Amino acid sequence: MSARVLVVDDVLPNVKLLAAKLTREYFDVITAYNGPEALELVKRESPDIVLLDVMMPGMDGFEVCEKIRSDPATMHIPVVMVTALSDVADRVRGLEAGADDFLTKPVNDIALFARVRSLVRLKMMMDEWRLRESTSGQFGVIEPAGTLLSEAADKARVLVLEDSVLDLEKITETLKRDGDHVIPAETCAKALERALNDDLDMVIVSLTLLNEDGLRLCSQLRSHERTRQVPILLVVDEGDLNRVAKGLELGANDYVIKPIDRNELLARVRTQIRRKRYQERLRANYEHSLSMALTDSLTGVFNRRYVNAHLPRLLDRAIDNHKPVSVLMFDIDHFKDVNDTWGHDVGDDVLKEVASRASRNLRTFDLVARLGGEEFVVILPDTDDEAARIVAERLRTRIADAPFAVSAPVGEIAVTVSVGVAVGGRLGDTADNLIKRADAALYQAKRSGRNCVVADPRGEVNEFRVTPAH
Ligand code: GH3
Ligand code: MG
Ligand code: MG
Repeated sequence: MSARVLVVDDVLPNVKLLAAKLTREYFDVITAYNGPEALELVKRESPDIVLLDVMMPGMDGFEVCEKIRSDPATMHIPVVMVTALSDVADRVRGLEAGADDFLTKPVNDIALFARVRSLVRLKMMMDEWRLRESTSGQFGVIEPAGTLLSEAADKARVLVLEDSVLDLEKITETLKRDGDHVIPAETCAKALERALNDDLDMVIVSLTLLNEDGLRLCSQLRSHERTRQVPILLVVDEGDLNRVAKGLELGANDYVIKPIDRNELLARVRTQIRRKRYQERLRANYEHSLSMALTDSLTGVFNRRYVNAHLPRLLDRAIDNHKPVSVLMFDIDHFKDVNDTWGHDVGDDVLKEVASRASRNLRTFDLVARLGGEEFVVILPDTDDEAARIVAERLRTRIADAPFAVSAPVGEIAVTVSVGVAVGGRLGDTADNLIKRADAALYQAKRSGRNCVVADPRGEVNEFRVTPAH
């Protein structure tokens, strides 16, 4: 994993030492010697992580961290505070300023690399979601996910694997301040079972269990789809940093050292919960905007936007593979009369049923879309004009032969469609002209009296017989 690390410290030897350690581990290192310079580099170079000295003349580390966090362009970059102070109050202040972790000088190598790797891994995952969110935003539906810091960090469901009664009590009492619900477990097996059947915001895993290794639970949580994303906080004894490193490798997100400091515990738990909730919001937004952007809300089939994005790619692939793609364009006959006679709601019912009958009678990789109004399109990959005409005729009869049940006093009404067929896949074909030819064929079908299928004459040049594979 190659990542760009920004090291910030006002003391030159400190910068050189950290830079050398990181470079040896193949990180790409950039450096800054004061706060304003650091902010400038954060903006310009977008590093994957910032290692930030606390005590600097002028702008100190807390202020730099707050500034990074408050700028939407940089707020997602992980920050690790590095300081000579081991004062817990300062740690908590750093975490509250939005730092992801705290390292004390002289920096322990294992802790350093483990933290950096774990935070960079997390950031890369978040970057992926942010990218997808912005891509789906391009389709025109943007729901801002807010910011990481605007996420609520309270009322969380937290599973705690700890066999020490005293420590469990301390953790439980501390998390109560945030209204968190603590679910205790004494063994890895019980904890895992609970985790797989619950919606957890976080799991706290003690590595000081008498009869078991908590790292087993970490590895199990990461191997199940359901718990892969749930944040894990390790609780360890001082001097057990090797196992912390192992835990972080396995996918744990953070750790606290016993004896537990309540403020530090709370701050670290909050950070993880916020991050998890933010990540879930990004994912939900992405999925929501994608379905909003690409499907028709009335009928549930794809919309014109999707056809515009998808058909050109499908057609290009077909041309490359010397295979045909057929398009059926169909339109409900005298649909205006349905609305005028029975009302708009009945019209909507008819639209839904037409979409549903079309979808039900196709192969899984065929695609139905509503282009707007009462006009639909069906895209049939790997289908020549003869096969397409058979599909079109079947579609026409499935609609015409069985009346539509509607919520009007008459109970049911007859509905028919006219269908135009066009086939593409020749060099030079474009999605635009394929649609236009299907549309022209549809127009002919309307002119020929409706409730019928007309194929674009160009399809009759039989260049695309689909022959069985040899
Ligand atoms: P033709 O056989 O030539 O296609 O005639 P038609 O009446 O179906 O075509 P026309 O284009 O004149 O009318 C289409 C009607 O579809 C007009 C419009 O009110 C109705 N319509 C468009 N979108 C919706 C919708 O979402 N719901 C309902 N209920 N009606 C719609
Ligand atoms: Mg119509
Ligand atoms: Mg119409």
